[in-house]
Amino acid sequence: MTTIRDNDIEQEAMKRSFYHLIVNGEKIKSSTGETIKTYNPATGELVAEVAKASKEDVEKAIASARDAFDNGKWKMYPVGRRAQVLNKIAAIMRSRFNELVELEILDTGKTFHAAQGQVSQAIEDFEFYAGAIVGHRGVVNNVPGQFHNYTEKEPVGVCAQIIPWNYPLMMAAWKVAPAIAVGCSVIVKPASLTPLTAIILGEICLEAGVPAGVVNILPGSGSDIGNFLVEHPQVDKVAFTGSTPIGKDIMGKASQSLKRVTLELGGKSPNLVFEDADIDAAVDGSLFGIFYNSGQSCEARSRLYVHEDIYDEFLNKFVEKTKKLQLGNPFDKGTHVGAIIDQVQLDTIDSYVQSARKEGAEILVGGNISKPNGYENGFWYEPTIIANVNHDMTVVKEEIFGPVVVLMKFKNEKEAIRLANDTEFGLGSAIWSKDGARATRVANQIQAGIVMVNCPFSAFPGTPFGGYKQSGFGRELCIETLDLYTETKSILSYYGSRPLNPFGL
Ligand code: NAP
Ligand code: MG
Repeated sequence: MTTIRDNDIEQEAMKRSFYHLIVNGEKIKSSTGETIKTYNPATGELVAEVAKASKEDVEKAIASARDAFDNGKWKMYPVGRRAQVLNKIAAIMRSRFNELVELEILDTGKTFHAAQGQVSQAIEDFEFYAGAIVGHRGVVNNVPGQFHNYTEKEPVGVCAQIIPWNYPLMMAAWKVAPAIAVGCSVIVKPASLTPLTAIILGEICLEAGVPAGVVNILPGSGSDIGNFLVEHPQVDKVAFTGSTPIGKDIMGKASQSLKRVTLELGGKSPNLVFEDADIDAAVDGSLFGIFYNSGQSCEARSRLYVHEDIYDEFLNKFVEKTKKLQLGNPFDKGTHVGAIIDQVQLDTIDSYVQSARKEGAEILVGGNISKPNGYENGFWYEPTIIANVNHDMTVVKEEIFGPVVVLMKFKNEKEAIRLANDTEFGLGSAIWSKDGARATRVANQIQAGIVMVNCPFSAFPGTPFGGYKQSGFGRELCIETLDLYTETKSILSYYGSRPLNPFGL
């Protein structure tokens, strides 16, 4: 079996043991000297030490971001020049592709295929926004004669961007690219568990010509500096991806200064397989839909509903293929499912499965902590299928964020839609059917921000990504994201030859 290490010459990622904060265009240590240690979840081994930002460091970063925004040149650049810098960021990322992939694998324990796809997409995100920004502009509105009205899209200001651990580089790209494209300054707070690739991205931004203060990267504790950023009066916007409870907390705190807020939160996405589906395609897509990224995806299709007429056939094939999924060396190209991010998440997943057992569900496959050969010190969970469940069970209602899917039957389209929508979340959803009219009808009625029709993938640069209901609000990865990093200013002028005297005095 080939592994990336067989043909990877650089292994730069392996050589570096310390990562700095990026503040005001400089790589600095924390003011307190504190560090975060980051581990490889596949092996439990230490990967690197990272400067841990203090509140003092955050103050410094906010001041520099503020100065870059209020007095700096970045937002004044011609848009084509900003686009050029974004393209340069993408080009440098591409030239360091293997290093970024390797680092992402080491920091998260995800598979080579997953890391490769996500690093590619992060690069494409910068290219996408380099193009999109050129067409992002205000409009001229119809107003009564002798008046003229146009709008301008102005960058919102200093943005705090809080990132989760499941897609460290891609989530950073989703946030940094549109924000700097429109001329904002950003302070990125990566997840404490996975800070490495965001730091590299910050270094690349500087190398590409982003002026000092526009992109600051500050790993540090969410409850400490994350909170501090959200409450800080000099921060204009918070963009957060993470869990629903923290999202609610952030929204409450940000309301004190009426910051702009966008939230990408959790999910419990339904996956509907109709009796007229291409069953093999549905099996493969459903497998990917839940086990990709070890199920640690906000849009993981974790509730699988299959029409009763094809339930047995689907189930047999789905179970058989689930048993074939390989766990183990994430660098091995034959590995399908990577590690779980840490012990806490592993325990959470296992306790959900235990709760299902207690509530009378049936574990068809998996259901245990796994110890792949040679990876006994890492965090692993068997791909798990749970049947004999109902909508009162915790395992059906709550997000597990692991390789665990619940499987249910439905009788008809109406019931499928009702079950799909019976959740407090509304992020992803999937429909498998060869009947185009049905797929369109069902897609129309599903309460979710994303509907995948006969498609295992949820998004590409350009497709909106975000949720309904308690999955949050705001859309990333698309053109309208640019609106979420800008204010619309309306400029109304009068051009009549006679002065107006509205009071008639
Ligand atoms: P999390 O605990 O909510 O953490 C996310 C980020 O928020 C981390 O950087 C974290 O910092 C920071 N944070 C924690 N407490 C904070 C606070 N009080 N104020 C400000 N920031 C704070 O979530 P996670 O465990 O990293 O990620 C898993 C969850 O994220 C899942 O529930 C998943 O559904 C959701 N998610 C959603 C999407 C989406 O697009 N909708 C994408 C990915 C993940 P520390 O690392 O220092 O704790
Ligand atoms: Mg790590």
